[in-house]
Amino acid sequence: MYLGKWGWPKGGTTHAKPLAITEPDTLGSTSLAHLVRNIKPRYHFAGLYGVHYERLPYRNIQILDVGSTHITRFIGLSKVDNDKKLKWLYAFNITPACSMTSKKLMTSPGPVTACPYACPFSEDGTNQNFFAMGSLYGLKPPQSGNDRRGVKKKKHAGVLQECCCFCLTNPNIQRQLLLSIGNHSYLTLAKGGLVEDHLLIIPMEHVAASVNLSESAEKEVENYKLALIEYFHIQDLNVIFFERNLNSPHLQIQVVPIPKSCSSGAVKTIIEFASAQGLKFTELSKFSVLKQVVPKKTSKKSYFYVEIFNNKEICGKLVHIIDGNFPLQFGRMMLSSKDLLNLPDHIDWKECKISCDEEVKAADKFRRHFKKYDFTKK
Ligand SMILES: [Zn+2]
Repeated sequence: MYLGKWGWPKGGTTHAKPLAITEPDTLGSTSLAHLVRNIKPRYHFAGLYGVHYERLPYRNIQILDVGSTHITRFIGLSKVDNDKKLKWLYAFNITPACSMTSKKLMTSPGPVTACPYACPFSEDGTNQNFFAMGSLYGLKPPQSGNDRRGVKKKKHAGVLQECCCFCLTNPNIQRQLLLSIGNHSYLTLAKGGLVEDHLLIIPMEHVAASVNLSESAEKEVENYKLALIEYFHIQDLNVIFFERNLNSPHLQIQVVPIPKSCSSGAVKTIIEFASAQGLKFTELSKFSVLKQVVPKKTSKKSYFYVEIFNNKEICGKLVHIIDGNFPLQFGRMMLSSKDLLNLPDHIDWKECKISCDEEVKAADKFRRHFKKYDFTKK
C-alpha cells in the first residue's frame, strides 16, 4: 500500500531504529498513523522525506492474544533518481492473504515490535508507547489532564529505560499479564506468582523506591491498595503488601492475598521468621509513614517494607533497613513459611511459572472479577 503522498505516519519509528535525518517533533501525520493502525496493511510504503528507511516489522496488536494478528512492514523510500543514490525502488513478492493459511499469515520472519502508533485519543502521539500497551486490553488511557511536560518526560524516560522490564514503554513488557492501567501506575499479575492472585502494583515512573514516588503516583498506588484490600476481603482473604528496595531499578509493590485464618499472627510470624534469618525487622506504628523512617534523601539505603492488613484494617507495618547480605527472595520465603501460606516449594518463582496461554486466561479472569473495584474503569 502506498500512502506516501500524505507523508509519514507519526510514530513510524517508535520501537525501531531512528531516522538518519534529524527527526523534528512535527514529523509525521497523526491522522495517517490512525488510519494505518486501523487498516493494518501488510506493507506500507511512504516517501516525501528523501530517505530510505526500513524498520523492524511490527505486529498489529489489538487484542490479548499477541500471536493472532499479522505483521506490517513499513518502508520509507527516497526520491526517484536521487543524487545520493538512496534506495527509491523496492521489489518484492507478495502472496495474497486470501490464499494463505491464517497460521502462515501470522508467522513472523524474525523479531517484531509492538504496534508503534498511538490510539486515536492520543492527540499529539508523544505518548504512543504507553497507549499502544494500554489499548491491548481496552484499558482506559490516562486522563486528558496530563500536561505536556509530564508526557514529554515519559517519552524521554521511555527511551532511556526501554530495556526496563517494568517500564510500560518497553515494547517487550509482559503485556499478557497487565490487569489495569491508571494515570501514574499500573497493576499486573506477577510472573511465577506465589499464589494465583499474586499481583504487582508498579508506578509508571522509573523509580526504585516508594519513598521516591511523586505525590500523584503515591496517591494512585494507595488507591490500588484500597481497591485490592476490598476485592480480597470479599473473598475472605487478607492482603500483604511488600517492597524490596534492593537490586531493582524499578519499584514493584508485591501484593499477596493470604487466608484470614493465618493472618492474625502474621506480624509476629514475620518478625520471628526474619530473626531466624539474622534480620531485624522494626514494627512501625500503624499511623507512621515509611518516609519518616526512610527519608527520601537517604533512600539510597536499601530497605524491605511489609504492610499486613486484616479485615481491611492495617495490623502491621514492618521495615528492615538492609545493611549487609539480604536474601533477594526474602518476601517469598517469609510468605511461603509454615505459619503463613505453607508453600515451601513456591519460593523460587521459576518453579511457579505457567504457560503464556495460562497467563492470558488468569489475567482475563482477574480483570473480569476485579472490574467493579477498579477505579480506572469508573
Ligand atoms: Zn523502569
